[in-house]
Amino acid sequence: MLLRGLSRLLRDRRAAGPGPRWASGIAAIREQTLVAVKPDGVQRRLVGEIIQRFERRGFQLVGLKLVQAPHDVLSAHYHDLEEKPFYPALIEYMSSGPIVAMVWEGHDVVRVSRVMVGSTSPAHALPGTLRGDLCVHISRNAVHASDSVEVAKKEISLWFHHSELVEWQCCAHSNLYKV
Ligand code: UDP
Ligand code: MG
Repeated sequence: MLLRGLSRLLRDRRAAGPGPRWASGIAAIREQTLVAVKPDGVQRRLVGEIIQRFERRGFQLVGLKLVQAPHDVLSAHYHDLEEKPFYPALIEYMSSGPIVAMVWEGHDVVRVSRVMVGSTSPAHALPGTLRGDLCVHISRNAVHASDSVEVAKKEISLWFHHSELVEWQCCAHSNLYKV
């Protein structure tokens, strides 16, 4: 068990390659996810609060833009849901105004972001989660977060061109990680 953990650690370090200490680290602390403030969240002036939750948690912002989502991006993003009865209303909702799309980076950020965002239905989302604190209904749940590492990679490349993501040194790094 310990040996397997160590060999995984070494493999991650090798995969991260050489580079400055903050950038090389262990691959897991450089995990990235797509978070988006949906049109209702933008209209309700929740952008600042949502960003603040991720900042205060200790995640690092590496991409950010305000966009009127193109139809082809939305249909690719929600491809898996196109047979669902709520799909047309979902696309209409997501097209109804600008979205703030973001890429956040950090240890286990995909899983932790989903916990921070809360259940899809705000009625079931726990207090303390974004949806549990800020929304009331599944049709207007204010925020999106990728649901797996694989999906996060696809969603990031769908919403962002590689050149829009910024690799930068966070001065808080050594207070957040010992790697
Ligand atoms: N949605 C909806 N009605 C439903 C289920 C989902 O309007 O019954 C919308 C809601 O905006 C949700 C999005 O579709 O966030 C994507 O659904 P998914 O199951 O992927 O939930 P999420 O990953 O956003 O929690
Ligand atoms: Mg989803």
